[in-house]
Formats: sequence, C-alpha cells, structure tokens
Amino acid sequence: MSHISALLVKGHLLLQLQAKGTVHPAMSIDFCDGQRWRRKSACCANATWLKGPKSCKEDDSCFCPLRLKGTSMTGADFFPIRELSTYQTKWTIKGRVTSKAPLRTFKQRNGSGQGKVFHVELLDAEGGEIRASFFNDAADKHFELLEVGKCFTLSKGQVKLANRQYNACKHRYELVFDKACQVDGVADDGKIDTVKFSVVELRSVKGKTLPCSVDVCGIVKDYDKSFAFTSKDGKDLVKRTLTLADDSGISMQVTIWGDRAKKEDSEFEGNPVVAMKGVSVKVWQGGLSGSLMEGGSLAFNPDMPEAHKVKSWWTQGGHAQSLTFISQTSGGGGARIAGKLMDVLEMKQKSEQLVNEQEMYSAYCRLSSVQLRKRDEIQPLYYNACLEPKEGNGLPCNRRVDEANFCAVCNKTVKAAPRLNLRCRFEDATGNFWVTTFHPAAEKVLGMTAQEVADIEKSEGREVVEAKLKSCYYAQILQVQLRAKPDNYNGEQRTNVSCPSAQPINRREHARFMLKEIEEMLAKAVC
Ligand SMILES: [Zn+2]
Repeated sequence: MSHISALLVKGHLLLQLQAKGTVHPAMSIDFCDGQRWRRKSACCANATWLKGPKSCKEDDSCFCPLRLKGTSMTGADFFPIRELSTYQTKWTIKGRVTSKAPLRTFKQRNGSGQGKVFHVELLDAEGGEIRASFFNDAADKHFELLEVGKCFTLSKGQVKLANRQYNACKHRYELVFDKACQVDGVADDGKIDTVKFSVVELRSVKGKTLPCSVDVCGIVKDYDKSFAFTSKDGKDLVKRTLTLADDSGISMQVTIWGDRAKKEDSEFEGNPVVAMKGVSVKVWQGGLSGSLMEGGSLAFNPDMPEAHKVKSWWTQGGHAQSLTFISQTSGGGGARIAGKLMDVLEMKQKSEQLVNEQEMYSAYCRLSSVQLRKRDEIQPLYYNACLEPKEGNGLPCNRRVDEANFCAVCNKTVKAAPRLNLRCRFEDATGNFWVTTFHPAAEKVLGMTAQEVADIEKSEGREVVEAKLKSCYYAQILQVQLRAKPDNYNGEQRTNVSCPSAQPINRREHARFMLKEIEEMLAKAVC
C-alpha cells in the first residue's frame, strides 16, 4: 500500500470513527472500540491497547484499516506464522511451542565472552510453523517460560532467512529474539495442534539429498534394547534403535535417545505406530539411518490419517510383506543380528551344552541345502497362514488355514498369505547344521518372498521352484542368528534350536570385520 492510499484509508477510518464518536480526541490514530483505547499502525496484528482505566468488555476485534478492507485476519488478530517474512516488521504471532532445544553457550563473535542461545519451534492455528531463537538476555528471561506444549504470543522479534544448515523447520524464515522481545504466556488455544507432522514415505527418503531432516510415520517392526554408553566427549547417553516400516515397502532404522529410549520395552511391543518429527537421515555404513533429533517429537499411535493408513496396511498383509531394508548394520558389532558371534562348530557345541536359559548365537555361513524331500516325500516349503489380527496386540494369527482359507482358531474364513517354513542346512569351514528357518529369515536366505515361492510353484511347477532354491546354495555369505532353548521332549532334556533371523552380509563391512580379526591374530602371533 502506498503512503498516500494508506493515509486515505486512515482518513476514511478516522471519519467513520469520528462519526461514531469513538476517536480519541488527542491522537487521531488512536481509537476506541467502545471500552478501551487502542493504537493502530500498519496492521491489526500490531494493535496495542493504550493503558487506561477502562477495560474492554466487548470482543477483541480491532479497527485495523486492513481488516476493514476484508483481509483474512482471524478472530484474535494474530499474524499468521506462515506469512511471516522480512517484509513484515511489526507483527504479533500466537503459537504453541512444539519443541524446545536445550540452552547452549557459544563464543561471541566479537570476543566479548560467552553467548547463549536456545530455540523453540512454534505452531499456530493455521498450521504455520517457524523456528524462533532466543539469544543472551532473552534466553535467560524466557528459557523457563517457554515450555513445550504451552501457548504464547510473541512480538518484537527479527525475521531472518532460515539457515538450512541448522534449521530443519520448513519455513523460509526464522525468528530471532533478543532482549527487546515481548513474550507472554496465554491460555491454551484448542485451535492450535500440539504438533504438526509433515510425513514423508520412507521410500522417498532414498531420493533425498543427504543429510536431510524428515517427519516419518511407521510401524515399529523391531526394536533393540535401550543401550547406555559414554560418548567420545564424556557424556552419558542412552539410545535405542527402532526399525520402522511403512506401506511404501521400506524399512529403516531410526535411533531415539535419552528419556525416549529409556521408555519400557513394552511400549515398543506389539508393533505400535509411531510418528516422528525431525528425524535426521544420514548415510551410515553404506545404508541410510535415521536419528530422532532432541528437538523432535515422538508420538505413539497418533490420531492422524498417515498413522491409520500405515496401521491398516500392516494388519492387512503388510506384516507378511517382504520389505526393502535401507539401513545397513555393522558386520562385526552385530547391531541387528543379536547373539554371540562364533563359528558353526563352536555354536553346535554350545547349544548342546545349554542347560538353563535360552541363548542367542550368530555365525557367518552359507546356505548349503534346503530339505526338499523327507524319505522321498515332498516337503512343503510354505503354508498358508491366517492374517486375522489377534485380539490385543493386532499381530496376525498366523495359524495354518485350510484350502478354503478357513482358520480353525479364528473359526471363520479369513484372508491368508503364504509363510515360508524351511529346514535349511548352513555351513562354514568348521561344519554344518540343520535348522528350522522361519518365514522372515527364510525370505532373507532365499532372497525371495513366500509369495514368489508359492507363485512359482503353482505356475511353473515343483521342479522349477526346487531349481530356484538350489541356485541359492552357497550363493552368498549370510549372518545367521540361532536361538537355542532348553526343551523337554518326552521327559528327555534336549535343546531346541531355531533360526529367527538371517541376512546377507554387507561385503564391505564384513571385509573390515575380517581385516580386524586378522590384525588381532597377527598381534597375538608377534607376541
Ligand atoms: Zn486365525
């Protein structure tokens, strides 16, 4: 608006108000809504009440000329966060603090000692989000006040272009507040969400320029135990790694930290849906790996469309789907395949000596055979499993169904999907062993889904599927996990061994692991 037209609007307004008799006699641009005097400048977001003995009993609407012209200013007349830019110098926003970073200190550029800063992310009723940083005096003054989840009005800050290096918030600009800022706590505004997720599919993460920050929503497919350790710079940390999966057919590891990681294991059981805001994704050991940033958010089973979508995908067959795992786990450290690493011979001996508790082992070996026949009888490779979600945890029933897809446990006709159940022989230089290999591990071992195996057998015949399986023999090195459980069979004590998980090794990682082993052996040899 040009200066002259602004004056015209003001003049027009003035005449209107004078006609109503509400204009402050001394200050032509101050006016009253009937109860209280108010000063107007460029826009209603900047209306401030003039201090006076009277308080307004009417509504809080203002007399801004822009508003009279019918702009989109809503009820309380706060400036929409989404529209903040360097073109606006005066504004008041109202938002909820959705995240808050810890206060940190830094060395002042001008050498005048230590500075301090913290930032929050603010969300308003129109869904706009922006980061706001508070420096020095403003940091001291407002750090305690600005609690996550509470609503505030803020003004007298500076709008700057967002620094993409540090700021993952989607807004083009960010706010900087110093001691001149005005921050006031206000009553909770139900129109403002507690957090806003801009969820992307895990598949799309692969195509992004890394590192990047994303919001994701997925099923907790797996979780590790929480793990406490001391960082290189001496900080005590706790982390927990989750494997998330979504309906784009991808699974990815995301690490959570601190109190979030310390939650009870039971919170992560039963494949809950989680939405995460502010997951930083990086290349790690050749794969993609996420880490939920401290200022991010984590919501369990949130009520949002993405969560409902991913939940129904999971219960309607997604759990049985073979997913592309885009993270890479270490070969030597055994981050994902848990269990003490040993060779096949040692593993056989250990499992035979097992007495009390269940143990997990893992070994690098190759598939050398799959039991296709037993005393000339053809062995089934898969069975059709009931997909009906179980009451309580929503996991599939998984019982064998008959040819008409009738499940005896659920006592009805159900949706079903093939599940692999193979007797596999694995082998390394020290020996071999037979083990029952369940569905998820068997799919990894074969590099084929159960559905693919079933389809080939049905359309091309048993011989073709057997040839396919044989082509997997010795084809690649696998890291195989074994679970040895003490078992009682007809009064006789014995060990029940099964293979709950397996995965092809990452050659680069495995090579590093072997090099380290050689170095260790050499070191011993020299001594
Ligand atoms: Zn069933």
